[in-house]
Amino acid sequence: MQIQYNGGKIAHVQNDIGRALIDAKLAVEVKPPAKPVPNTTWEVRQGLNPEHGPYLAAHCSTCGQNACSGGPKTSQTMKFLHCGIVENVPQYVARNYDKQYRDWQRGDESRPSSVSASQRDIERARIEWLESKRVAHVG
Ligand SMILES: [Zn+2]
Repeated sequence: MQIQYNGGKIAHVQNDIGRALIDAKLAVEVKPPAKPVPNTTWEVRQGLNPEHGPYLAAHCSTCGQNACSGGPKTSQTMKFLHCGIVENVPQYVARNYDKQYRDWQRGDESRPSSVSASQRDIERARIEWLESKRVAHVG
């Protein structure tokens, strides 16, 4: 355990010694900082235009990190580094992405022609925001 002596010095000591020092009021316990609890939202998103295909986006509401990645293997290879952990794509998201990616490759998916211009602008702004976040964190 970690303790802080009354003089201010912080030290790692065996638990029984630490307890004895604390009981004798010669030191106080230093608690390790609480680990953040990751809270990730994974989404399959459609690319900006039909040539780009779907991509995966991850957002963690605990640390505020974002990541996005596309391509045929990204559901297997994408890693989301945040909250001191490395997170893989959850299986149900990977399956969903792979299906949408295959559909896109076959040209089956509904083209975003039905999407309004204002909705496209919202999507574009969000992608730009995600991209800027990604660059900021990688660089
Ligand atoms: Zn996080």
